[in-house]
Parts: sequence; structure tokens; C-alpha cells
Amino acid sequence: MQKREKESDIHMRGGVITERDAGLSTVRTRAPAGVFTIEQLRGLARVAKKYGTGIVHCTIRQTIEIPHVSPENLKKIAKELEANGTPIGSEKDEIVNIISCPGSERCKFANIDTLSLAKKIDAKMFGKVMPVKIRIAVSGCPNACTSPMLNEIGVIGRVRPLRTEGLCTGCGGCVYYCKEHAIRIRNGISELDEEKCVECGMCVTSCSFDLLKAEPRHYLITVGGRRGRHPKIGRELLTVDTEDHVLFVIDRIVDWVYRRAWSGRLLSEQLDELHFEKFRAEIIKQVPEAHAVQPVHKAAAE
Ligand code: SF4
Ligand code: SF4
Ligand code: SF4
Repeated sequence: MQKREKESDIHMRGGVITERDAGLSTVRTRAPAGVFTIEQLRGLARVAKKYGTGIVHCTIRQTIEIPHVSPENLKKIAKELEANGTPIGSEKDEIVNIISCPGSERCKFANIDTLSLAKKIDAKMFGKVMPVKIRIAVSGCPNACTSPMLNEIGVIGRVRPLRTEGLCTGCGGCVYYCKEHAIRIRNGISELDEEKCVECGMCVTSCSFDLLKAEPRHYLITVGGRRGRHPKIGRELLTVDTEDHVLFVIDRIVDWVYRRAWSGRLLSEQLDELHFEKFRAEIIKQVPEAHAVQPVHKAAAE
């Protein structure tokens, strides 16, 4: 009796998904930032061969799942996946796999170390049971390759460009590189249109004369995005200047959703009822002014 209850517990875990043939399950793994070691991949191959049908599937949340696992093998596979460093993941109303682009480890456009941040978020938040599913995505720049604004919580690395006054030659190199048409040459020097600038930082390295400087990197945090039938773009919550403050703000968002959200509806559908703007004002008060960064267009508007 005791044994049966434990097996049933495993079956109820978010990372164990009942298949179309209800007698089989797909077992999804936890993979912070979608990174696996070669040894973990070898281990997954061995486990998939032993308990599945010898194939694995890559999910859109950067994990690997093993299809066609029989119920009697769930306990064994759970133990072996744990030992492999790729434990059973999550999929239900909980904080699911944290995804990340390669960021500054490999991408020349990156403004932040996304992999490090995503792993820290995972270590703190992964698997927490919530009233609604919480997907978190981190992107190193506004190119947003992991679609952070289509997740319940998104983080985007940004950099604000600054031109050294008076030294510009007006060559137009930065104008050419800015995809947002946010720079123009006026009276022989480059001029930034703050309304159009998305703070990607691409222009910073484009100046052959090294006249464009980058303000310290910062992190835009968004809330309430979603994919699926009725996609929604997340709302901007605030921008902070350190990883620690990103972790603090995400912790506050999770706490707010945990205490106030209703189950049965996506977070994006509840933001107004949850008084998002009031929450936003509260969070801004909790982040020391020195660490809350004004986006360039908002700063210019004031
Ligand atoms: S989001 Fe930006 S930093 Fe990340 S992979 Fe895409 S281009 Fe590179
Ligand atoms: S930081 Fe702003 S001005 Fe520079 S390339 Fe990006 S959008 Fe254009
Ligand atoms: S690339 Fe440099 S020198 Fe040329 S217009 Fe831009 S800021 Fe001025």
C-alpha cells in the first residue's frame, strides 16, 4: 500500500505527463537554462533506451523529455534521472524550466550573462507550486531570442548608449548599424532619438572612433506575457542594474502571484484584477533608487 502511494506521487509530478495512450507517460527533465553536460546527455540516452523507446524529444522550454515510459518504471527512472543530474522537471501550475539564450558567454550582441542569471533563478525558484503556471525566460538583448515578453516573467539585458559630446565626425557608421532608425546625423554630428532607442547597445561598438560609450548594463523585467491561443506581450515592471536586484524583484513577483492569483486562469488574464499597477508602484518603492534604472525614453520624457 505504502509503495503504491509513492508511485502515485511520482505520477502526479508536473514533469510526468500522461500521453494520448493513457497507459504511458512522457518524463520531462529539469534543465536550468537548457544546458546539459556531455555526461548528462550520455546518461539521458542510456535512460531513454532502458525505460523508453530509445528516443528523446527537445521541448520548447529547453528541456529534454523521454517519451513512452511505463508506469511501473516511473520510480526507477526518477531515481536514475536524479543521479544523472537531470531530475524530473515540472509542467503543471508551478515554476517551470527557466530558459535562457547563450548571452555574454557566446553571443556578440549580449549585454548580460544570461546563463548565470537563469541558473540562479532556477536554484531559487524552480518547481515552486503556484496558483498559475509561471514561465520565466531570460534574453541577453532586446533581440529577445527566448521571447521573454511572451512569458509570465521576462528578463531582457539592455545597455543605454551615450555619445561623447563634441567629438563626433558625423560619418554615419552608427546610423547604419541602428536597426531602430534611432540615430540621425544633425548639424554634422550623431543625435539619438530616445523614443525609438530600444537600448540594444549595437551602436556602441559600431563607432570606429570609439565615441559611443555604454552605460552599465541593466535588466528590464516584464510580467504577464503568454504564448498559445491568445498571445499577449508582458507589461514592463521595472529595470534594475544588478543580478541580485533581478532575483529580488522576481522573488517579489512570485510571492505576489502566490498570495493573490486565482487558479484556473492564466496570469496574463488576471493582471488588472491583481492591481498590477499598484504592485508595480510597491515594487519600485522597495528597490533602492540607485538600482532602479529609468529606460532612456522615459527618462527623456521627464
Ligand atoms: S537575445 Fe540577444 S544576446 Fe541573446 S542570443 Fe539573441 S541576439 Fe544574442
Ligand atoms: S542602443 Fe539605441 S541607438 Fe543604439 S543601436 Fe540600439 S536602438 Fe539604436
Ligand atoms: S559612428 Fe561615431 S563618429 Fe560616426 S557618426 Fe556615429 S558617433 Fe559619430
